[in-house]
Amino acid sequence: MSKELIFAVEDEANIQQLIKYNLEANGYKVITFDTGEQLIEECKSNVPNLFILDIMLPGIDGLEVCRQLRQNLRTKSIPVIILTAKNEEFDKVLGLELGADDYITKPFSVRELVARVKALFRRVHISLENSSEIISYGNISMDCTRREVFKDDRLIDLPLKEFELLKLLIMNKGKVLSREILLEKVWGFDYYGETRTVDVHIRYLRQKIEDDDSNPVYIETIRGIGYRFNDKGATNK
Ligand code: CA
Repeated sequence: MSKELIFAVEDEANIQQLIKYNLEANGYKVITFDTGEQLIEECKSNVPNLFILDIMLPGIDGLEVCRQLRQNLRTKSIPVIILTAKNEEFDKVLGLELGADDYITKPFSVRELVARVKALFRRVHISLENSSEIISYGNISMDCTRREVFKDDRLIDLPLKEFELLKLLIMNKGKVLSREILLEKVWGFDYYGETRTVDVHIRYLRQKIEDDDSNPVYIETIRGIGYRFNDKGATNK
């Protein structure tokens, strides 16, 4: 199992340590920040799989951090848990309106924190499993049991990794998948270094499935982030 990366912003050192220690003990990797500004800055070069945002912070508050994360293409679909003080109903409501996925009320127990994080990952997890055996989109169809791909009813020979990559993209069509996510799901790497591997395989894949691979219609490049299987351009034939 590869480790999910969590960014947590919390200015109180003891709570920060409590979050980091307990989530890491449960198999997550946690990077902590003292301010929202630091977290936003880090997101320019690295994005996590989940954010935990305390609301009361020096500088910009957690709600403002949440708002900024939701406006940014790189971070807008990454789940957010906000930490609210007891009885701050207003913050909780506003946080959820701003796009937070869940909230935890302070003071919280370690057990609650871990349970909420796990539940959220279960809820938003990119689906690798699929009940149907045939996935199709436009003139591309995949038979997952036989591991065959057809374009216009013509069999296309795809090596395993290219097959898995295409499957993941099609199953999540319309969603931007970062290079890191693709690398992790297809290759099982839990480190963030070899993302060029993804680009190379996308290139091979395009040569096989696109009509014109220098002008791809199916697999779009989302600059600086990753790729998206286009759910609009292709027409069902
Ligand atoms: Ca605080």
